[in-house]
Amino acid sequence: MEAWSHEAIVSASLSLFQGLGKKGKPSSEEWTPLATFSLTDDSKTDIAKVISLGTGSKCIGEHKMSLEGWLVNDSHAEIIARRGFVKYLIGQLKSAILETEDTIFERSPICKGQYSIKNGIKFHFFTSQSPCGDASIFPLSTKHQRIEEEEGEENGSATKRMKLIEEESGSITEGNPNQFPIRSTSAPKSTVTVSTGQAVDRELNAVEDGAHSDVHRTGTKCLITSTGQAIDEEVNAVEDGAHSDVHRTGAKCVKGGSTDSHLPGLGYHVLRALRTKPGRGDPTLSMSCSDKMMRWNVLGVQGALLFLLIDKPVYLHSITVSGELYNQEAMERALVGRLCHLKLSKELLEKGYKLHQPIIKQLKQGSLQELTKGGTRCRMAPGSIVWCIDPPTHEVIIQGYCQGANRKQKPDDKSSVSICKKKLFSDFKELVQLISDNDLPVILSDLRVQEYEGRYYDWKQSSLDYQKARTLFNEHFPTWLTNGRELEYF
Ligand SMILES: [Zn+2]
Repeated sequence: MEAWSHEAIVSASLSLFQGLGKKGKPSSEEWTPLATFSLTDDSKTDIAKVISLGTGSKCIGEHKMSLEGWLVNDSHAEIIARRGFVKYLIGQLKSAILETEDTIFERSPICKGQYSIKNGIKFHFFTSQSPCGDASIFPLSTKHQRIEEEEGEENGSATKRMKLIEEESGSITEGNPNQFPIRSTSAPKSTVTVSTGQAVDRELNAVEDGAHSDVHRTGTKCLITSTGQAIDEEVNAVEDGAHSDVHRTGAKCVKGGSTDSHLPGLGYHVLRALRTKPGRGDPTLSMSCSDKMMRWNVLGVQGALLFLLIDKPVYLHSITVSGELYNQEAMERALVGRLCHLKLSKELLEKGYKLHQPIIKQLKQGSLQELTKGGTRCRMAPGSIVWCIDPPTHEVIIQGYCQGANRKQKPDDKSSVSICKKKLFSDFKELVQLISDNDLPVILSDLRVQEYEGRYYDWKQSSLDYQKARTLFNEHFPTWLTNGRELEYF
């Protein structure tokens, strides 16, 4: 019997967040998105246990990225929580290798020297808002528009709040004082300067445009069967007077792919496009959370390095989203539907790769409002919290550095957080050194000696099955931005 529920996951996530000290939390005038990874065990009656948590909505630009892997480039809550999860997996593998305590791993029955996640253990993801990018693009119902207008009239500060956020991030995002972070479409028309230095008019108002208010929506919905086979299902064209605008994302289409029309109404955004994180100024190379989460459904959440020690990709059993502005179809399209034409080779299927379809659900939780009682939250908090249950971690990231670091200096061991690539890589190498020669997986036995001094890039490349799956994924999404070797050569 399954010992979990969406309610239990949300409530465990929120009580953990509430119980954390003030360190890195938003002030009474700030808000932040929240994401967690939780674990449930079918063999136990325990409710969900949160194992990692991330907050934040910032991302550093291309020119600030560290060549040595000291900085965290992408500090969106979802991505920070995932880094905390990787740290947790490394810690659990360490205990399994040393046989010091009970862990989520057991020795793999199929691959010598590797480990399997024990039967009945499931991982669940929670986020307080729809992920940025494709999952945030959906038709807005008139109900949403009406609610926002009324709120604007009541407190008279909606426009001001939106302006503040526009200036800070360039994204179409705001905090709602009555809900945990949600996004809004009501904003003033503004002129912004894009990264090329060119000024463009950007229509941010939720405009009901007679010419576009009854656009036909068509789409191909894609379902993936448990065997990993994709099935196309044509969704009927819908003529719906209730939908005259779409909820928008600040995430921009990647170059070389399809582009947004930015026309008012339902056609503002192109659907299914790969996008980079919202933000203005120095453009970021980080893909939107919708895109990264979609990739988790093929490559797993464990990453290339850990696939050297874990015998199967680690997939999420469920994804729960709270917040008012949510659309089931958009979430499924963004995270699963876009994968429908991806064909995995027999070899990859045998290694446990699949087109994974997590259980995705929205859950509106009343207690979310408790977190916003401090007052009107009008700005996005500048920092990101990363928390992990074991090894115990609670750090704050500001512009990629650890809080308190001198950000004018080159980042190093002291000014970085424990989930930066450099430190996770170092943790991983230490892990490999703990394995006795007899127990090393075949793939590592040849590599360990010469590669121990090897670069992050080389180690990732040595994860051959993972790289095969990644290559296939990249062929399917040729405009996906991949970090150059120079950013992984440390
Ligand atoms: Zn995001």
